[in-house]
Amino acid sequence: MAGPLGGHCVYTNGIFLTEFARSASHNGRAAQVRAKHDADATHPLGKIAPMSPFDLHTHSTISDGTLTPTRLVQRALARGLDVLALTDHDDTGGIDEARREAEGTPLRVLPGVEISVTWESRTLHIVGLNVDPGNDTLAAGLAAIREGRDVRARRIGESFAKAGIHGAFEGAKRYVTSERLVSRTHFARFLIERGHARSMQDAFKRYMRAGRPGHVEHAWAALGDAVSWIHAAGGQAVIAHPARYGLTATRMRRLLGEYRDLRGDAIEVISPSHTLAEAEDSARCARVFGLLASTGSDFHDPDESPLDLGALPPLPMGVAPVWSRW
Ligand code: AMP
Ligand code: MN
Ligand code: MN
Ligand code: MN
Repeated sequence: MAGPLGGHCVYTNGIFLTEFARSASHNGRAAQVRAKHDADATHPLGKIAPMSPFDLHTHSTISDGTLTPTRLVQRALARGLDVLALTDHDDTGGIDEARREAEGTPLRVLPGVEISVTWESRTLHIVGLNVDPGNDTLAAGLAAIREGRDVRARRIGESFAKAGIHGAFEGAKRYVTSERLVSRTHFARFLIERGHARSMQDAFKRYMRAGRPGHVEHAWAALGDAVSWIHAAGGQAVIAHPARYGLTATRMRRLLGEYRDLRGDAIEVISPSHTLAEAEDSARCARVFGLLASTGSDFHDPDESPLDLGALPPLPMGVAPVWSRW
């Protein structure tokens, strides 16, 4: 789809803009949306909101997002995106619906998933792009993770009860939009409803961190399994929001070395979980470890999410975009 990174670069908003990203976002339909943003001084990324034609990390009601796959695709079209990856947590069940909605439109929907992984006692997220949702190996792995989520949710409910907050499991269940998947996001929405937290961020800060009632020990998939399921399903593996895990430099290098040895393909460089400095650092990591670079809004909800679909600055200079292999 995309050409290689071209020679000319311009410097904008603290980030080098590649000639490819510049021409894509200036000449495509995204340019029209960008023009609207230019007048919006309240956008979190500043007066001139960036706009990427690619958004490779998003959620729907199939996991913890609040828009159905259909509504998500409609929003992506309205915002002028060219490529949208639907990457629900541990489930590919929304892909058929999203693709049907995009049929006959200029939007390309990529089948994706965001797999929950435990690596060295920490939870990491590995996005799979271009996965075949019908692949048995991937489907079986994801089904096993979802079963673990049900068990964990009951334990989280018990943990809240011990802390004096009763009915959390049932309360979270009322926010679940797919019977196949319960997440801490659903608990957080219940906590906000009950006045225990003001916002999503606040709920996570107060209740979901290690040592708080919303955090119970849980073993997700192994890193090597997640990468191999994604590859078995014909996809590319991407470490989601790498700077969010609070890893030391040593541990980050160990993770990236191991990941490269597992034939992991890419890391997310642009993410709402990253500051611009962390995006630059992630880009350096991609260059050093020979990994491709991805970009995604991690969109969940129009009000809750810090970034709207495609509201992403361009990739820093010198990294190869994950789409350069498509
Ligand atoms: P789970 O996979 O059930 O552990 O839930 C993780 C989800 O919680 C993530 O995918 C995010 O949607 C959400 N989340 C995690 N940390 C935060 C945070 N600090 N603020 C808001 N949402 C968060
Ligand atoms: Mn989520
Ligand atoms: Mn994630
Ligand atoms: Mn996500």
